[in-house]
Amino acid sequence: MALTPVANLQKLILDTVHHTFRQPETIPVAQAAGRVLAQDIISSLNVPANNVSAMDGYAFPTVAAAGSAWRLAGESAAGRPFTGQPENGACIRIMTGAVVPTGFVAVAMQENAETDAQGNIVLTKDTPEGNNIRFAGEEIQRNQAIFQAGRILNHADVLVLASLGVGNVVVQPKIRVAVLSTGDELVEPSNPITEHGQIYDSNRHMLMSRLRDLPVEIVDMGKIEDNLEAVLSGLEHAAKTADVVMTSGGVSVGDYDYLRLAVEKIGQIHHYKVAMKPGKPFVFGQLGESQAWYFGLPGNPISGYVGFDMFVKSALWRLCGASEMPQPFRIQAALTAPVKKSAGRMDIQRATLTRQADGSWTVAPCGSQDSHRVLGVSQANAFMLLAQESGNLAAGDMVEVQPFAERFL
Ligand code: AMP
Ligand code: MG
Repeated sequence: MALTPVANLQKLILDTVHHTFRQPETIPVAQAAGRVLAQDIISSLNVPANNVSAMDGYAFPTVAAAGSAWRLAGESAAGRPFTGQPENGACIRIMTGAVVPTGFVAVAMQENAETDAQGNIVLTKDTPEGNNIRFAGEEIQRNQAIFQAGRILNHADVLVLASLGVGNVVVQPKIRVAVLSTGDELVEPSNPITEHGQIYDSNRHMLMSRLRDLPVEIVDMGKIEDNLEAVLSGLEHAAKTADVVMTSGGVSVGDYDYLRLAVEKIGQIHHYKVAMKPGKPFVFGQLGESQAWYFGLPGNPISGYVGFDMFVKSALWRLCGASEMPQPFRIQAALTAPVKKSAGRMDIQRATLTRQADGSWTVAPCGSQDSHRVLGVSQANAFMLLAQESGNLAAGDMVEVQPFAERFL
């Protein structure tokens, strides 16, 4: 079977998966970042709501020239507006965010005013009309469309929503993602290794940890044994329980790799082999009557780690109802050392990206790139995406780099 180029598999997955309607939920706005909006947000008010002062200072009923002296007739503070009438020759004290009352046309910042011996305010600078006033509706108008359903809400959106008086937000419910491991050699961390050849199950914990960055409910389904019956019943159970099933291991061509066979029996395989290193076997399919989405990651830990980034994450966002997908974060950086590579597969190497004093970026590969080595990915702060057709690369060559967002400020 021909290998699918990485970009083609990414497109195939995003074109195939689709969000199914579920009853949205309403949550407090402070908990909404990282969730997918399920309503359109239309502003019910003007922002600012009134003409307000941008400074602490004095408000005037006319333009006010440098050197002019003004009697102080009252005060407008934030939340406590001036209730009197404008008077000729009189100004009022005003604070940042306080309403500029009707009849007042300009504000001078207090640094440009002095108080004379009679207690009058004397300007040291001209104060033109509109000076230091934030006008009602200047930023947002009533009935303005602000966000559309499908947006992945961020922290700044929480600021906007709360500014508009939105205290509760309607968001897509979390989808359920089941995670299971396969492998008779696997032992749960914290438990003792009692038999020769056993290893700890690291993949499942890594995958569950990575899922915490998404609006999903994680269903930990433990491990299934390496025999067809166990794999079939494990997958069937998972497909009934969850919207998405993710497994690690058992998708290659070894004698105990039953996943593909099992998926074919109880569902469909949409895709199998991708032109990527690490992680060539990558099963994408659907399972059971519920047609749960299935991602079968290889057992080698780094293959699974990379596969999650390259294919699973964006698919999950789509399944969570996101319509504005996050862009891939890619930059070009200069290699600090030569890299061996043969043409035919995209090589996703673990690397350290560093910003140089002149603002340019360099990237250094993190030692051995074998797909079972767990320390490299933990020391790395980026993937180098070495093009499928590329051969060996020399120091100084520019390569495409995908930074790990969480490693940068
Ligand atoms: P497999 O894809 O099942 O052939 O596994 C490939 C390699 O990954 C083998 O060395 C397995 O022992 C290892 N492996 C499989 N599953 C896990 C896991 N959950 N955690 C750590 N290593 C694993
Ligand atoms: Mg295995």
